[in-house]
Amino acid sequence: MDIVGLAAPANAIEAIFHRQRSLSRTAPPPDLAERLDRLRRLRGLLASHEEAFASAISDDFGHRPAIETMLTETLFLLGEIKHTVRSLKGWMAPRRVATQLQFWPAKNRLLPQPLGVVGVIAPWNYPLQLTLAPAIGAIAAGNRVMIKPSEFAPRFAGLLREAVGKSFDATELAVTGIENGVAEVFSALPFDHLVFTGSTKVGRIVAAAAGRNLTPVTLELGGKSPVIVDRSADVAKVAERVAYAKLLNAGQTCIAPDYVFVPEAMRDALAEQLQSAMTRMIGSAPANPDYTSIISDRHYARLDGLVADAVARGAGLVQPQAIDTAAWKSRRKFPPTILLGAKPEMAIMQEEIFGPVLPIMSYRDAGEPIAYVNAHDRPLALYWFGEDTATRDDVLARTVSGGATINDCLLHFAQVNQPMGGVGASGCGAYHGPWGFDAFSKLKPVFYRSPLNRFADAYPPYGPKIARLIKLIRFVS
Ligand code: NAD
Repeated sequence: MDIVGLAAPANAIEAIFHRQRSLSRTAPPPDLAERLDRLRRLRGLLASHEEAFASAISDDFGHRPAIETMLTETLFLLGEIKHTVRSLKGWMAPRRVATQLQFWPAKNRLLPQPLGVVGVIAPWNYPLQLTLAPAIGAIAAGNRVMIKPSEFAPRFAGLLREAVGKSFDATELAVTGIENGVAEVFSALPFDHLVFTGSTKVGRIVAAAAGRNLTPVTLELGGKSPVIVDRSADVAKVAERVAYAKLLNAGQTCIAPDYVFVPEAMRDALAEQLQSAMTRMIGSAPANPDYTSIISDRHYARLDGLVADAVARGAGLVQPQAIDTAAWKSRRKFPPTILLGAKPEMAIMQEEIFGPVLPIMSYRDAGEPIAYVNAHDRPLALYWFGEDTATRDDVLARTVSGGATINDCLLHFAQVNQPMGGVGASGCGAYHGPWGFDAFSKLKPVFYRSPLNRFADAYPPYGPKIARLIKLIRFVS
């Protein structure tokens, strides 16, 4: 890499990788006790740095309520560790697999084994959760892990590196720096598995880099997650739940509702109730401490541009009353914005919004939202609101998304026994709980031959005895 000043960090990253890789090939795989010890150290690190992490993340954003970090990041991770610690013995055990009659009385087992070294590349929007959640699954599966945090959350990244350095040997778990060019060096390493969480655009680059090493990837990407409101829905409930999901982390959430489809006759009532729900939640002044800032001026300007383009193309703008634009901008807080009459040709309908701006499109026929979703990239999440179960099941059956929540948003993500992952342009692979353990393991099929079985001895010279054996097997199987 000929990036000025990168030589030292690049060498250090490569050195850690080679030490981890070499140990993963020479030392015996960590047993249950060792894995539990690593998970408990991770839990200790989280507990002892809970406030420091929340404060570093808030500084990186400009402002983020500590309670939001605890709710969406710390609590999630502690739950994931608890679930993993409780279940790990069972996940690690060899799995019974049925054996066909002709091989009886032999047995089949699937043996979960660590892959070796797992790399994790994380984004800035939930910097704690998205660095450590893949690490929990990878450590549980017995791997050594390297993490590359995002350069957009530098205070958090420095703190994580320091905290992990104190609790772990770098051969168990290591966090890299975030200097320019580190991301490219990192994604070029021949990991045994690479987890990338970030944009679809960078996901393509990372997948290509991993492909050169035949490194398998889990890609946790973004996209436009729709909300479909059915005519059987309760507008007040929709408004409250969608408003919350859109304002959480100021919309900088991969599975945030991106845009809404609502029956034409319900559109204005929904917009009105959305606006009052948003005002109830975060008030109408930018100083509100329960509302998160946008991560950078560049990201703020992008949102401004998307709104301006939509308005120039005819969208109706709904924002808090008497808005003091400069005051919001100086705190990098983006005013909650609803765009009525959004159209597919607007820029806001063509890229992931990733901010507190909610375009609303209306429909007449229940087939329209389904056709629209299917004509675009597969979304990471889909939300459906209503009571008509036949329409609900039709939408679920005819659309493909990474996940879905019915009559709320985001909550499918919080389920420890469900996999989290996208599909198509929103990602591939999945993790969390047992799904993460399996994703970061080699499930090795092993056949234990029985000395009593004769079928496996069907060696030449073939004669009538073997022909009879084949006939018998065909008859009974
Ligand atoms: P990003 O793609 O810009 O960056 C993600 C990570 O990739 C960062 O660590 C960055 O340093 C690294 N990176 C950048 N260029 C790279 C390169 N050339 N090679 C290797 N690594 C490189 O994403 P972001 O802005 O940090 O995060 C926002 C995006 O992440 C949104 O699209 C959001 O939907 C998505 N996201 C997805 C999930 C999920 O679970 N599916 C969760 C959170 C965020």
